[in-house]
Amino acid sequence: MTSKQAAYLVLNAGSSSLKFSAFRQQAASADLETLLSGQISGIGSSAHFAAKGADRRLLAEHRWDDKDSLCRDTLLQYVLRWVRATLVDDEIVAVGHRVVHGGLALGQPMRVSPQLLDQLDSLVPLAPLHQPHNLAPMRILAKNFPDLEQVACFDTAFHSSQPAIARSFALPQALTDEGVCSYGFHGLSYEYVTSQLLENRPDLAEGHVVICHLGNGSSLCAVKGGRSMDTSMGFSALDGVPMGTRAGSVDPGVILYLMREKKMGLEELEDLLYRQSGLLGVSGVSNDMQVLQASDDPRAQKAVDLFCFRVAKEVAALAASMGGLDALVFTAGIGENSPEIRALIAERLEWLGVKVDAAANRNREYYIAATDSKVPVFVIPTNEEMMIAKHTINVLGQTIGHA
Ligand code: ADP
Repeated sequence: MTSKQAAYLVLNAGSSSLKFSAFRQQAASADLETLLSGQISGIGSSAHFAAKGADRRLLAEHRWDDKDSLCRDTLLQYVLRWVRATLVDDEIVAVGHRVVHGGLALGQPMRVSPQLLDQLDSLVPLAPLHQPHNLAPMRILAKNFPDLEQVACFDTAFHSSQPAIARSFALPQALTDEGVCSYGFHGLSYEYVTSQLLENRPDLAEGHVVICHLGNGSSLCAVKGGRSMDTSMGFSALDGVPMGTRAGSVDPGVILYLMREKKMGLEELEDLLYRQSGLLGVSGVSNDMQVLQASDDPRAQKAVDLFCFRVAKEVAALAASMGGLDALVFTAGIGENSPEIRALIAERLEWLGVKVDAAANRNREYYIAATDSKVPVFVIPTNEEMMIAKHTINVLGQTIGHA
C-alpha cells in the first residue's frame, strides 16, 4: 500500500463566502504545490460551490436550495469531505485559517486551541463584520473533525513590527491603552509579496519599499528591512485609500455632521461607509475597477482619478513615514491587472523619481520601471493562501510528517 502525502487545506471564511485551497509540500523542497482551489459563494441566500484544479479547469460545481445554504456547518463539512474524496493521493492533515484580527498580542500564527478561540472572541469588537465569520469554521471543524490540526493566521500580524508612533492616533492616551490604535490589515499579502521581492532582489533587503495592495479592498504598506513600518489601513478596514465600496479615510467631522444633521445611526453609517461609498459611491456606476475603466460616464472617470490621486498621495506619505523610497510594488486584482491604473499612479509620483516603461507595464512584466526611473517598480502577484499554508506547516513543524 502506498502511503499518502500530507496536504494542507486553507480556509478564508467571509460573511457570505467560504474560499478554500489545498497545498502539498513538494518532496525535498520547501516549495508548495497548489492542488486545487474554490469557493462557496452566496452563503445565506443560495449557496454555490465551485472548485478548480491547479490548471484552473473546473473540477466540480454544486448548488444548494435556500434552506440548506443557511447552514455553515453543512457547507463546511461538504467542502472538507469533497476535498478529501478528490485528493486521493493526499491526506489533509491540517487546516490553516485566515483571521482578520490578532490584536496586539498575537504577532505570529498560532495553533488553534479552546484558549486561543476565547482570546480571538475577545477581539470581535475590533472587527465585528469579519472576525465572527473567521472563527466559526474553527469551532465547526474542532467539533466534527477533532483529529485535524488547525492554525490561525492573522492579517494584523505582519504589522506587529511597526513602531509605536506609526500605531498611535492623537487621542487621549487612555484610549490608546485600551487598544484604540492602528493595527493594519492585508498582512498576509504583504508578507508574501515581501518574501517574493526579497527572494528575487536580495539587494533590497534593507531598502524602503512601498507595496500597493490594490483590490476590492485596498491598502498600502511601508516595508523596511523586510518588516512593516507603517500602513494606510489603521484601526479598521475603513481607513486609507478609497476601495470598491468603502470610503477610505474621511474627516471624522463628516461622521459627526451626519449624526447631528442627518440623524444617522450606527447601522446607517456602517452601511454608508462600508457598502455605499468608495468607487461605487463616487461613480454611481460600479465598485468594479474594470467596469469603471470601460465606462464613458464622467463620474466613473472621477472615481478612477480620485483612486489614483489618493494611492499616489499615500505612497508619498509612507515614503516620508519610513524615510525613503527604494522600490514600489503593485499587487492584488487592480495592482496586478491594470496597466492604466499603474501608469496613472506612477505619473503622479514622477517627482519622486518613479517612471514606468510603457511596454513592460502593458505586458505586465515583473519589472516595469523605465531605464531612467530612480525607483525600481515591480508587479508581484500576491498569494495569501500560499502564505497561510506555509505558516500552517511551520507552526505545526515537527509534529506532522508525511501521513
Ligand atoms: P479582493 O480584495 O476581493 O481579493 P481582488 O484582489 O480580486 O479583490 O481585486 C478585485 C478588483 O480587481 C476589482 O475591482 C476588479 O475590477 C479589479 N480587476 C481585476 N482585473 C482587472 C483588470 N484587468 N483591469 C482593471 N481592474 C481589474
